[in-house]
Parts: sequence; structure tokens; C-alpha cells
Amino acid sequence: MSVYKSLYDTMPDGREVYIFKIENNNGVYAELLTLGATLASFVCPDRDGNMGDILAGFDNLEGHLNTTTYAGQIIGQYANRICDGTFTLGGRKYNVTKNENGVTCLHGGDEYSSALWKAIITDDNAVEFSYHSPDGEQGFPGNVDITVQYVLTDRNELEIHYTAATDKDTIVNFTNHAYFNLGTIQNGDILGTVLQLNCDFFTPTDARSIPTGEIRSVEGTAFDFREPKPIGRDIGADDEQLKLCGGYDHNFCINGDAGTLRPAAKALDERCGRKLEVWTDLPGVQLYTGNFMNGEPGKGGVALQKHYGFCLETQYYPDTPNQPGFPSCELKAGETFRSLTVFKV
Ligand code: BGC
Repeated sequence: MSVYKSLYDTMPDGREVYIFKIENNNGVYAELLTLGATLASFVCPDRDGNMGDILAGFDNLEGHLNTTTYAGQIIGQYANRICDGTFTLGGRKYNVTKNENGVTCLHGGDEYSSALWKAIITDDNAVEFSYHSPDGEQGFPGNVDITVQYVLTDRNELEIHYTAATDKDTIVNFTNHAYFNLGTIQNGDILGTVLQLNCDFFTPTDARSIPTGEIRSVEGTAFDFREPKPIGRDIGADDEQLKLCGGYDHNFCINGDAGTLRPAAKALDERCGRKLEVWTDLPGVQLYTGNFMNGEPGKGGVALQKHYGFCLETQYYPDTPNQPGFPSCELKAGETFRSLTVFKV
């Protein structure tokens, strides 16, 4: 096991961005940036032992700074969308940034994902990032202190441990927005990747990608990934939900008890044999098939085209603060939020 820190680059305003590399005894490694506490690369062997980076993303600061993809970034204070950028908590109405077409709040108004985080090496296989979100930032209540600890084990698990505390009742929803491409971006899109989701239900949305409140069975729909199938098999199906967002961009309800670490998803690229398992204690996972990737120059200069990566964003359901039927994402003053998501290769 080893962990190294080095200077990555300097922001236009002169602040320094650092990169950490954690490597395990199998030669698997992850690289992390203080900008957005970003998971920048995750390198693992294929069935013949060839190492490859399974994350679609960027290999320079300009790419990370200019992207609209959120690739690999930690998202907060509320991942995914809040309808009309407003919610009521404790009888008080809060207005948060409407950064998506002036209509919805997407990914907390980019606050956490664009911040420069503090970082310390906490073990020979672990780095902890921390960030302080001031009360009222992007409209969210509370001084929120968050830590995100990445730990890489010799079982090839990358654990992402989240903790947060607040001095006012607030809402929280943190995720990592990694785009996976198990065959690496040099080999094209992810439509052939075989995916299995441990999810019997999903949350349909309206045209703004806001959940309608319905929790719909996947049975008999293109959203049924209970048995493994290629991501692209049904992506073009005559399904109003798929047409709304040009592919999958939906929250799935993970079977089993939230609060308990359980499998959410498994993926396999049959061409090279690289695989991924996602485990989490959160209630949901957003399957997003990179429908809006628009050719930004990615690693090695490869254009990140539509469907060049898929995301499995573990999360509370989108727009939970406005949906009384969804599991609550409230964090009370004085309480500590804890959550764990694991990417195993
Ligand atoms: C959202 C997509 C969005 C993407 C990148 C995902 O979490 O669900 O609608 O385009 O993030 O911004």
C-alpha cells in the first residue's frame, strides 16, 4: 500500500491544486484531486492483466475546471435536483440556486464540486478531504462541515466514507459523480456494458427530470436490470421516460434497508473482463448514461461523446425535500451524518 501527494496544477487565481495517488498491493490505484475532492482516475487490470483507467474524465486542470459533466466530483449539498429551487423545512421556506436553466437546482449549485477541499493522508491507503459550507451558501441552511474519506483496500474496494455535521437543521445529499467506462474511453461507448441493478422500483420524472412522486415497478419495462443486460439493449425503447432524457437518467430504489451496506449494482465489460460492483447504505442510485456528454476533450484527447461513460450516483432520491413519500434526507443540528459507498473492481 502506498499514498503520495504532489502538486497537480495552479488555478487561474493562483491557488494550488494537489493530487493524491493511493495504490494497493495489486497495482490497482486511484487518483484524487483537492478540486471538488474529485476521483480523477481508477486504474485496474483487465482479464489479461492490462491496466486501464475505468473513469471517463480529464487529465488536466483545464478539463476539470471547464467541464459541465461533474466527472468524478463530490456533489453537495444536495445531489441531483430540487424542484423550482425551493423547499420547506421546519416551517420555513428556503430558496436555493436555480443553476439549471433558471428553473431547478442541480447538484447543489456546484458549490461542493467546484470547491478546493483540504486534504490529509490518514493512512497508507487513505486520504480524507474536508470542506466547510457556510450557512446560507447557495441558499442551504446551516454551517455544514463535511469530510469525504477515500480508502483503497487490497480487495480492490474503493470506499467513500462521508460524514457531515450542521449547526442548523438542513438537508444533505452527497454523491460521487464518477463516469465509468470499463473498457476505457479509448474503446468507445458503454452501451455494450452488461449491467445489473438490485432495484425493483424506480422514480419516474417529468420533462424537467423532477420525480413525479410515483415509485414505479421496473417489471416489464426498459428499466428492468434485475437480470444482467447490456445498457444499450433497451435504451432506445419506445418509452416516454427514456425519451424525456435521451437515455437513462433516473433514480432507482435499491432493494433492502437503507442504512445497511448492500449491493446496488454490478457491471461487466465482456470484451475486456473488467467489472465493477457498487455497494451503498443510501436509499437510491442514479443511473445516468452520459446522455448529455457533448465531446469535451477527455483523457488523452479523446472526445467524451454521448454514452462514453455511465454513472451510478448513490443518493437520496432526487427532490426528496419536496416529496413526503421519499426517505428523508434531513440532517438535524448537532447530529452527525454518516454514509458509505464502495466501488469494487
Ligand atoms: C443528472 C443528469 C445531469 C448529469 C450531469 C446527473 O446526475 O441526473 O441529468 O446531466 O448529472 O450534469
